[in-house]
Amino acid sequence: MRGTPDASTRPNTPGLVDRFGRVATDLRVSLTDRCNLRCTYCMPAEGLDWLPQPEVLSDDELARLLAIAVTRLGVTDVRFTGGEPLLRRGLEDVISATAALRPRPKISMTTNGLSLARRADSLVAAGLNRVNVSLDTLDRARFHELTRRDRLHDVFEGMAAARAAGLDPVKVNSVLLRGVNEDEAVPLLRFAVENGYQLRFIEQMPLDPQHGWDRTSMVTAAEILDSLATGFTLTPEPAARGGAPAERWLVDGGPAVVGVIASVTRPFCAACDRTRLTADGQLRNCLFSQSETDLRAPLRSGASDDEIADMWRATMWAKAAGHGINDAGFHQPDRPMSAIGG
Ligand code: SAM
Ligand code: SF4
Repeated sequence: MRGTPDASTRPNTPGLVDRFGRVATDLRVSLTDRCNLRCTYCMPAEGLDWLPQPEVLSDDELARLLAIAVTRLGVTDVRFTGGEPLLRRGLEDVISATAALRPRPKISMTTNGLSLARRADSLVAAGLNRVNVSLDTLDRARFHELTRRDRLHDVFEGMAAARAAGLDPVKVNSVLLRGVNEDEAVPLLRFAVENGYQLRFIEQMPLDPQHGWDRTSMVTAAEILDSLATGFTLTPEPAARGGAPAERWLVDGGPAVVGVIASVTRPFCAACDRTRLTADGQLRNCLFSQSETDLRAPLRSGASDDEIADMWRATMWAKAAGHGINDAGFHQPDRPMSAIGG
Protein backbone atom coordinates (compact mmCIF):
# COMPACT_ATOMS: atom_id res chain seq x y z
CA MET A 1 0.00 0.00 0.00
CA ARG A 2 1.37 3.37 -0.90
CA GLY A 3 0.68 6.53 1.14
CA THR A 4 -0.14 6.65 4.82
CA PRO A 5 -3.87 6.40 5.15
CA ASP A 6 -5.35 8.44 7.95
CA ALA A 7 -7.95 6.17 9.55
CA SER A 8 -9.45 9.05 11.56
CA THR A 9 -10.91 10.56 8.40
CA ARG A 10 -12.70 7.32 7.45
CA PRO A 11 -16.44 7.95 7.38
CA ASN A 12 -18.57 5.94 9.73
CA THR A 13 -20.39 4.02 7.00
CA PRO A 14 -20.93 0.26 6.86
CA GLY A 15 -19.61 -0.24 3.32
CA LEU A 16 -16.08 -0.74 2.00
CA VAL A 17 -15.16 2.80 1.03
CA ASP A 18 -11.71 4.14 0.25
CA ARG A 19 -10.00 7.52 0.29
CA PHE A 20 -10.76 8.07 -3.38
CA GLY A 21 -14.52 7.65 -3.12
CA ARG A 22 -14.65 4.13 -4.49
CA VAL A 23 -16.92 1.54 -2.88
CA ALA A 24 -15.97 -2.14 -3.06
CA THR A 25 -18.98 -4.36 -3.67
CA ASP A 26 -17.31 -7.13 -5.68
CA LEU A 27 -15.48 -9.80 -3.68
CA ARG A 28 -13.01 -12.18 -5.35
CA VAL A 29 -12.41 -15.28 -3.28
CA SER A 30 -9.58 -17.69 -4.00
CA LEU A 31 -10.72 -21.16 -2.93
CA THR A 32 -7.38 -22.88 -3.45
CA ASP A 33 -3.94 -22.03 -4.83
CA ARG A 34 -3.68 -25.47 -6.50
CA CYS A 35 -4.34 -26.18 -10.13
CA ASN A 36 -4.59 -29.13 -12.51
CA LEU A 37 -3.15 -27.18 -15.46
CA ARG A 38 0.25 -25.55 -15.65
CA CYS A 39 -0.25 -22.60 -17.98
CA THR A 40 3.27 -21.47 -18.78
CA TYR A 41 2.58 -17.82 -17.95
CA CYS A 42 0.99 -18.74 -14.62
CA MET A 43 2.83 -21.71 -13.11
CA PRO A 44 6.06 -23.62 -13.54
CA ALA A 45 5.85 -27.25 -14.73
CA GLU A 46 6.45 -28.60 -11.24
CA GLY A 47 3.72 -26.43 -9.71
CA LEU A 48 4.31 -24.04 -6.83
CA ASP A 49 4.76 -24.47 -3.07
CA TRP A 50 1.11 -25.10 -2.26
CA LEU A 51 -0.37 -23.72 0.94
CA PRO A 52 -0.31 -26.31 3.72
CA GLN A 53 -3.88 -27.49 4.34
CA PRO A 54 -4.13 -26.13 7.93
CA GLU A 55 -3.46 -22.66 6.55
CA VAL A 56 -6.37 -22.82 4.14
CA LEU A 57 -9.67 -21.48 5.44
CA SER A 58 -12.17 -24.21 6.26
CA ASP A 59 -15.63 -24.12 4.69
CA ASP A 60 -17.06 -22.79 7.97
CA GLU A 61 -14.44 -20.05 8.23
CA LEU A 62 -15.04 -19.08 4.65
CA ALA A 63 -18.80 -19.04 5.15
CA ARG A 64 -18.38 -16.73 8.13
CA LEU A 65 -16.24 -14.26 6.18
CA LEU A 66 -18.67 -14.36 3.26
CA ALA A 67 -21.55 -13.62 5.63
CA ILE A 68 -19.67 -10.65 7.10
CA ALA A 69 -18.89 -9.34 3.61
CA VAL A 70 -22.44 -9.62 2.34
CA THR A 71 -24.55 -8.79 5.37
CA ARG A 72 -22.35 -6.11 6.97
CA LEU A 73 -20.05 -4.69 4.31
CA GLY A 74 -22.32 -4.33 1.30
CA VAL A 75 -20.73 -6.93 -0.99
CA THR A 76 -23.22 -7.71 -3.77
CA ASP A 77 -21.11 -9.88 -6.09
CA VAL A 78 -18.97 -12.86 -5.14
CA ARG A 79 -16.62 -14.51 -7.62
CA PHE A 80 -14.88 -17.78 -6.75
CA THR A 81 -11.49 -18.32 -8.33
CA GLY A 82 -8.05 -19.72 -7.56
CA GLY A 83 -5.88 -21.63 -8.47
CA GLU A 84 -8.59 -23.84 -9.84
CA PRO A 85 -11.83 -23.46 -7.85
CA LEU A 86 -13.24 -26.78 -9.14
CA LEU A 87 -10.48 -28.50 -7.12
CA ARG A 88 -11.97 -27.21 -3.88
CA ARG A 89 -13.73 -30.03 -2.08
CA GLY A 90 -17.18 -28.94 -1.01
CA LEU A 91 -17.40 -26.20 -3.65
CA GLU A 92 -21.15 -26.76 -4.05
CA ASP A 93 -21.58 -26.32 -0.26
CA VAL A 94 -19.61 -23.08 -0.29
CA ILE A 95 -21.78 -21.82 -3.15
CA SER A 96 -25.05 -22.78 -1.50
CA ALA A 97 -23.99 -21.15 1.78
CA THR A 98 -23.27 -17.99 -0.21
CA ALA A 99 -26.58 -18.20 -2.05
CA ALA A 100 -28.43 -18.43 1.29
CA LEU A 101 -27.14 -15.01 2.39
CA ARG A 102 -29.47 -12.02 2.28
CA PRO A 103 -29.43 -9.85 0.32
CA ARG A 104 -28.47 -12.72 -1.97
CA PRO A 105 -25.26 -11.88 -3.83
CA LYS A 106 -24.68 -12.73 -7.47
CA ILE A 107 -22.33 -15.70 -7.57
CA SER A 108 -19.82 -16.36 -10.31
CA MET A 109 -16.71 -18.46 -10.87
CA THR A 110 -13.57 -18.26 -12.99
CA THR A 111 -12.37 -21.73 -13.98
CA ASN A 112 -10.20 -23.56 -16.46
CA GLY A 113 -13.26 -25.70 -17.25
CA LEU A 114 -11.76 -29.14 -16.60
CA SER A 115 -14.48 -31.28 -14.97
CA LEU A 116 -17.04 -28.52 -15.49
CA ALA A 117 -18.93 -30.90 -17.79
CA ARG A 118 -19.60 -33.18 -14.81
CA ARG A 119 -20.27 -30.39 -12.34
CA ALA A 120 -22.23 -27.71 -14.19
CA ASP A 121 -25.69 -28.94 -13.15
CA SER A 122 -24.81 -29.35 -9.48
CA LEU A 123 -23.10 -25.96 -9.41
CA VAL A 124 -26.17 -24.28 -10.86
CA ALA A 125 -28.40 -26.18 -8.41
CA ALA A 126 -26.19 -24.85 -5.60
CA GLY A 127 -26.73 -21.28 -6.79
CA LEU A 128 -23.97 -20.43 -9.26
CA ASN A 129 -25.15 -17.64 -11.61
CA ARG A 130 -22.25 -17.04 -13.99
CA VAL A 131 -19.08 -18.67 -15.18
CA ASN A 132 -15.93 -17.50 -16.95
CA VAL A 133 -13.94 -20.26 -18.61
CA SER A 134 -10.33 -19.57 -19.53
CA LEU A 135 -9.24 -20.63 -23.00
CA ASP A 136 -6.22 -19.26 -24.81
CA THR A 137 -6.11 -21.45 -27.91
CA LEU A 138 -8.35 -23.61 -30.08
CA ASP A 139 -5.51 -25.83 -31.24
CA ARG A 140 -5.03 -29.09 -29.38
CA ALA A 141 -1.24 -29.29 -29.71
CA ARG A 142 -0.86 -25.65 -28.75
CA PHE A 143 -3.18 -26.09 -25.76
CA HIS A 144 -1.02 -29.00 -24.64
CA GLU A 145 2.10 -26.88 -24.95
CA LEU A 146 0.59 -23.84 -23.27
CA THR A 147 -1.04 -25.63 -20.33
CA ARG A 148 1.30 -28.65 -20.24
CA ARG A 149 -1.77 -30.91 -20.29
CA ASP A 150 -3.63 -32.46 -23.24
CA ARG A 151 -7.10 -31.40 -22.04
CA LEU A 152 -8.54 -29.04 -24.67
CA HIS A 153 -11.48 -31.35 -25.29
CA ASP A 154 -12.50 -31.22 -21.61
CA VAL A 155 -12.60 -27.42 -21.76
CA PHE A 156 -14.88 -27.48 -24.82
CA GLU A 157 -17.16 -29.97 -23.08
CA GLY A 158 -17.16 -27.90 -19.91
CA MET A 159 -18.22 -24.75 -21.75
CA ALA A 160 -21.01 -26.56 -23.57
CA ALA A 161 -22.24 -28.08 -20.31
CA ALA A 162 -22.23 -24.68 -18.63
CA ARG A 163 -24.37 -23.27 -21.42
CA ALA A 164 -26.72 -26.28 -21.31
CA ALA A 165 -27.04 -25.86 -17.53
CA GLY A 166 -28.40 -22.36 -18.10
CA LEU A 167 -25.36 -20.26 -17.20
CA ASP A 168 -25.78 -17.25 -19.45
CA PRO A 169 -23.69 -15.75 -20.80
CA VAL A 170 -20.80 -18.21 -20.61
CA LYS A 171 -17.81 -15.89 -20.72
CA VAL A 172 -14.48 -16.95 -22.15
CA ASN A 173 -11.21 -15.38 -20.91
CA SER A 174 -8.23 -15.35 -23.25
CA VAL A 175 -4.70 -14.09 -22.70
CA LEU A 176 -2.67 -13.59 -25.88
CA LEU A 177 1.07 -14.17 -25.68
CA ARG A 178 3.57 -12.92 -28.21
CA GLY A 179 4.91 -15.68 -30.41
CA VAL A 180 2.60 -18.25 -28.81
CA ASN A 181 -1.06 -17.58 -29.63
CA GLU A 182 -1.19 -13.96 -30.74
CA ASP A 183 -2.46 -15.15 -34.13
CA GLU A 184 -5.65 -16.53 -32.57
CA ALA A 185 -7.63 -13.36 -31.82
CA VAL A 186 -9.91 -13.79 -34.84
CA PRO A 187 -10.41 -17.58 -34.55
CA LEU A 188 -11.15 -17.28 -30.82
CA LEU A 189 -13.77 -14.62 -31.45
CA ARG A 190 -15.30 -16.59 -34.31
CA PHE A 191 -15.51 -19.65 -32.05
CA ALA A 192 -17.16 -17.62 -29.28
CA VAL A 193 -19.70 -15.96 -31.58
CA GLU A 194 -20.62 -19.26 -33.24
CA ASN A 195 -21.19 -20.94 -29.88
CA GLY A 196 -22.95 -18.08 -28.13
CA TYR A 197 -20.10 -17.45 -25.67
CA GLN A 198 -18.92 -13.97 -24.70
CA LEU A 199 -15.19 -13.53 -25.25
CA ARG A 200 -12.93 -11.19 -23.28
CA PHE A 201 -9.25 -10.73 -23.96
CA ILE A 202 -7.12 -9.91 -20.93
CA GLU A 203 -3.79 -8.12 -21.21
CA GLN A 204 -1.05 -10.09 -19.54
CA MET A 205 -0.13 -8.52 -16.19
CA PRO A 206 3.07 -8.70 -14.12
CA LEU A 207 1.83 -11.45 -11.81
CA ASP A 208 3.77 -14.48 -13.01
CA PRO A 209 5.75 -16.52 -10.47
CA GLN A 210 8.93 -16.23 -12.54
CA HIS A 211 8.70 -12.41 -12.48
CA GLY A 212 9.44 -12.61 -16.19
CA TRP A 213 6.69 -10.30 -17.43
CA ASP A 214 8.01 -7.84 -19.94
CA ARG A 215 6.06 -4.84 -21.16
CA THR A 216 7.72 -4.93 -24.56
CA SER A 217 6.56 -8.47 -25.27
CA MET A 218 3.04 -8.03 -23.89
CA VAL A 219 0.28 -8.15 -26.52
CA THR A 220 -1.56 -4.86 -25.98
CA ALA A 221 -5.25 -4.09 -26.22
CA ALA A 222 -4.52 -1.91 -29.26
CA GLU A 223 -2.84 -4.84 -31.00
CA ILE A 224 -5.69 -7.17 -30.10
CA LEU A 225 -8.20 -4.71 -31.56
CA ASP A 226 -6.10 -4.33 -34.71
CA SER A 227 -6.06 -8.11 -35.12
CA LEU A 228 -9.81 -8.38 -34.58
CA ALA A 229 -10.42 -5.67 -37.17
CA THR A 230 -8.98 -7.97 -39.82
CA GLY A 231 -11.94 -10.33 -39.35
CA PHE A 232 -14.77 -8.27 -37.89
CA THR A 233 -16.27 -4.81 -37.72
CA LEU A 234 -16.17 -3.62 -34.12
CA THR A 235 -18.19 -0.68 -32.80
CA PRO A 236 -18.06 0.51 -29.19
CA GLU A 237 -20.97 -0.82 -27.16
CA PRO A 238 -23.16 2.08 -26.12
CA ALA A 239 -23.86 0.79 -22.57
CA ALA A 240 -21.85 2.46 -19.79
CA ARG A 241 -18.78 0.55 -18.61
CA GLY A 242 -19.37 1.29 -14.89
CA GLY A 243 -16.99 -0.62 -12.63
CA ALA A 244 -16.64 -3.41 -15.19
CA PRO A 245 -13.04 -3.78 -16.33
CA ALA A 246 -13.86 -4.86 -19.89
CA GLU A 247 -14.31 -2.29 -22.62
CA ARG A 248 -16.81 -3.89 -24.96
CA TRP A 249 -17.43 -3.77 -28.67
CA LEU A 250 -20.36 -4.96 -30.76
CA VAL A 251 -19.20 -7.59 -33.25
CA ASP A 252 -20.43 -6.95 -36.79
CA GLY A 253 -23.23 -4.73 -35.45
CA GLY A 254 -24.22 -7.10 -32.61
CA PRO A 255 -25.81 -8.67 -30.73
CA ALA A 256 -22.52 -10.49 -30.10
CA VAL A 257 -19.99 -8.47 -28.09
CA VAL A 258 -16.29 -8.83 -27.36
CA GLY A 259 -14.49 -7.37 -24.35
CA VAL A 260 -10.91 -6.27 -23.86
CA ILE A 261 -9.53 -5.90 -20.35
CA ALA A 262 -6.62 -3.51 -20.78
CA SER A 263 -5.38 -3.53 -17.20
CA VAL A 264 -1.91 -2.36 -18.23
CA THR A 265 -2.39 0.03 -21.13
CA ARG A 266 -5.78 1.49 -20.13
CA PRO A 267 -6.04 0.98 -16.37
CA PHE A 268 -9.51 1.17 -14.85
CA CYS A 269 -8.36 1.59 -11.24
CA ALA A 270 -10.44 4.77 -10.78
CA ALA A 271 -13.60 2.67 -11.18
CA CYS A 272 -12.37 -0.40 -9.27
CA ASP A 273 -14.98 -1.96 -6.99
CA ARG A 274 -13.00 -5.06 -5.90
CA THR A 275 -11.90 -6.53 -2.63
CA ARG A 276 -9.99 -9.84 -2.49
CA LEU A 277 -9.64 -12.75 -0.12
CA THR A 278 -6.95 -15.41 -0.56
CA ALA A 279 -7.46 -19.10 0.22
CA ASP A 280 -5.43 -18.66 3.43
CA GLY A 281 -7.61 -15.84 4.68
CA GLN A 282 -5.53 -12.83 3.70
CA LEU A 283 -7.36 -9.75 2.60
CA ARG A 284 -6.04 -7.63 -0.26
CA ASN A 285 -7.39 -4.32 -1.48
CA CYS A 286 -5.78 -4.75 -4.92
CA LEU A 287 -4.22 -7.50 -7.05
CA PHE A 288 -1.02 -5.48 -6.86
CA SER A 289 -0.99 -4.44 -3.21
CA GLN A 290 2.26 -5.07 -1.36
CA SER A 291 0.56 -5.90 1.91
CA GLU A 292 -2.23 -8.15 3.11
CA THR A 293 -4.42 -8.11 6.20
CA ASP A 294 -4.57 -11.41 8.01
CA LEU A 295 -8.17 -12.29 8.80
CA ARG A 296 -7.46 -15.94 9.55
CA ALA A 297 -5.63 -15.38 12.86
CA PRO A 298 -8.34 -13.14 14.35
CA LEU A 299 -10.98 -15.53 13.00
CA ARG A 300 -9.28 -18.41 14.80
CA SER A 301 -8.66 -16.53 18.02
CA GLY A 302 -12.19 -15.45 18.75
CA ALA A 303 -12.57 -12.04 17.07
CA SER A 304 -16.17 -10.88 16.73
CA ASP A 305 -17.89 -10.24 13.41
CA ASP A 306 -17.79 -6.52 14.23
CA GLU A 307 -14.03 -6.60 14.74
CA ILE A 308 -13.42 -8.50 11.51
CA ALA A 309 -15.73 -6.18 9.59
CA ASP A 310 -13.77 -3.22 10.89
CA MET A 311 -10.43 -4.72 9.84
CA TRP A 312 -11.91 -5.22 6.39
CA ARG A 313 -13.05 -1.58 6.23
CA ALA A 314 -9.64 -0.32 7.36
CA THR A 315 -7.90 -2.42 4.70
CA MET A 316 -10.07 -1.03 1.95
CA TRP A 317 -9.73 2.53 3.22
CA ALA A 318 -5.97 2.19 2.64
CA LYS A 319 -6.38 1.13 -1.02
CA ALA A 320 -4.00 2.97 -3.34
CA ALA A 321 -5.33 5.13 -6.16
CA GLY A 322 -3.92 2.79 -8.80
CA HIS A 323 -1.92 -0.37 -9.37
CA GLY A 324 1.20 1.55 -10.36
CA ILE A 325 2.29 -0.91 -13.09
CA ASN A 326 3.22 2.04 -15.27
CA ASP A 327 5.15 3.88 -12.50
CA ALA A 328 8.95 3.84 -12.47
CA GLY A 329 9.13 2.33 -8.98
CA PHE A 330 6.64 -0.47 -9.58
CA HIS A 331 7.29 -3.71 -7.71
CA GLN A 332 5.45 -6.87 -8.61
CA PRO A 333 3.71 -8.42 -5.59
CA ASP A 334 5.42 -11.48 -4.07
CA ARG A 335 2.46 -13.77 -4.59
CA PRO A 336 1.64 -14.81 -8.15
CA MET A 337 -1.82 -14.54 -9.72
CA SER A 338 -2.70 -18.18 -8.91
CA ALA A 339 -2.10 -17.63 -5.19
CA ILE A 340 -3.89 -14.29 -4.97
CA GLY A 341 -6.87 -15.38 -7.04
CA GLY A 342 -7.20 -14.28 -10.66
N1 SAM B 1 -7.70 -21.54 -12.91
C1 SAM B 1 -8.77 -20.66 -13.21
C2 SAM B 1 -8.70 -20.19 -14.65
O1 SAM B 1 -7.67 -20.42 -15.29
O2 SAM B 1 -9.67 -19.62 -15.09
C3 SAM B 1 -8.87 -19.46 -12.30
C4 SAM B 1 -7.58 -18.79 -11.90
S1 SAM B 1 -6.66 -18.06 -13.23
C5 SAM B 1 -5.31 -17.33 -12.36
C6 SAM B 1 -7.74 -16.73 -13.71
C7 SAM B 1 -7.42 -16.04 -14.99
O3 SAM B 1 -6.22 -15.35 -14.83
C8 SAM B 1 -7.24 -16.95 -16.18
O4 SAM B 1 -8.11 -16.51 -17.20
C9 SAM B 1 -5.81 -16.75 -16.59
O5 SAM B 1 -5.63 -16.81 -17.99
C10 SAM B 1 -5.55 -15.37 -16.06
N2 SAM B 1 -4.15 -15.06 -15.81
C11 SAM B 1 -3.21 -15.80 -15.22
N3 SAM B 1 -2.04 -15.13 -15.16
C12 SAM B 1 -2.25 -13.93 -15.72
C13 SAM B 1 -1.46 -12.78 -15.95
N4 SAM B 1 -0.18 -12.72 -15.59
N5 SAM B 1 -2.03 -11.72 -16.55
C14 SAM B 1 -3.34 -11.75 -16.93
N6 SAM B 1 -4.15 -12.79 -16.73
C15 SAM B 1 -3.61 -13.88 -16.14
FE1 SF4 C 1 -4.23 -22.99 -13.53
FE2 SF4 C 1 -5.75 -20.94 -14.23
FE3 SF4 C 1 -3.12 -20.60 -13.76
FE4 SF4 C 1 -3.85 -21.96 -15.91
S1 SF4 C 1 -4.31 -19.79 -15.50
S2 SF4 C 1 -2.26 -22.59 -14.42
S3 SF4 C 1 -5.67 -22.95 -15.24
S4 SF4 C 1 -4.64 -21.15 -12.27
